Amino acid sequence: MPERAAGGEAPEPFFFPKPVLVMSSCLDLQPVRYNGEIIRDDFVVKLRGFVKVVPVCPEMALGLGTPRPRILAHAENGAMELFQPATGRELTHDMAAFSESFLEGLSGIDGFLLKSKSPSCGVSGTKVYRYREGGIVLRKGRGLFAEKVLEKYYFLPAEDEGRLRNRELRDNFLTNIYAAADARVSLGRSAGMKDLVAFQSRYKYFLMAYNQKRLRELGKLTASYKKGDDFRALVDEYRHCFLEAIRRKPSRKQLVNALTHIFGHFSDRLGGGEKAMFLKLLGSYEKGISGIHPPLSILKSWAIRFGDKYLLSQRLLDPFPEELYEEGISL
Ligand code: SF4
Repeated sequence: MPERAAGGEAPEPFFFPKPVLVMSSCLDLQPVRYNGEIIRDDFVVKLRGFVKVVPVCPEMALGLGTPRPRILAHAENGAMELFQPATGRELTHDMAAFSESFLEGLSGIDGFLLKSKSPSCGVSGTKVYRYREGGIVLRKGRGLFAEKVLEKYYFLPAEDEGRLRNRELRDNFLTNIYAAADARVSLGRSAGMKDLVAFQSRYKYFLMAYNQKRLRELGKLTASYKKGDDFRALVDEYRHCFLEAIRRKPSRKQLVNALTHIFGHFSDRLGGGEKAMFLKLLGSYEKGISGIHPPLSILKSWAIRFGDKYLLSQRLLDPFPEELYEEGISL
């Protein structure tokens, strides 16, 4: 039987550990762009109040200064390279060396928020020219630093501010950085079996939405522990496997499936009109007509009404702090 709270009482607020994000310095932090400017982005300004920032400007780290002549990404020799046409300086090797050493030195981070379109930081939209002097654009891709980030930290969320103007990508990014921060803190050095089981319990429906196969694998991994085993190794494996499992954004269908399972907890205690209203909202979400926040809120209100502590503990119903919803960053 799920644990019951007094029906109708406000639930205990979640504790959300602050995500630690590596962020491009020019995103509203320092005027380090090639033209000496800073990027103003409303979402980044809001988010900065909720996260701990590790700033980085790879081009400044190479000693290029600001303002500086532009550098370009090109593929004249096949692979992507960086070149500064005004000075004739080849930067590929230096950028790769800086990126590797900087990324190697990081620990305890939960994700990356980088500057779009940049030949260094762009996670998307970076122009890759055919020739090193510019001219014809061969394709759009990633910057060199971002490429190294995605290679080494493929299991952590990494986005740029341009992609985060898309509401679904933004909400998925917020969900992932808060889940990564929770995994880092809850499954840290002092975690015991009780912490692991509690973590697994509150991510049940979350994982059901993201990756059902991994949900089962993670359950088996926890159950495989025997007295005398290396518990720390097990927790580290669990955390890595968890982060890999939530890497890909779930489809609307996957989310609808998980929410339908939660709905199943209450369906025999609801009136026909309530059920019809919920299913209509869920259908609108699945068709892309509306966001997921309305059906999520209804499920949460029923969990409060029926005093279901187990469901109120589910991260799928509260993926990131409510204040971010209030700022208009809603699902
Ligand atoms: S995009 Fe990256 S390299 Fe360019 S100014 Fe911003 S932080 Fe520096």
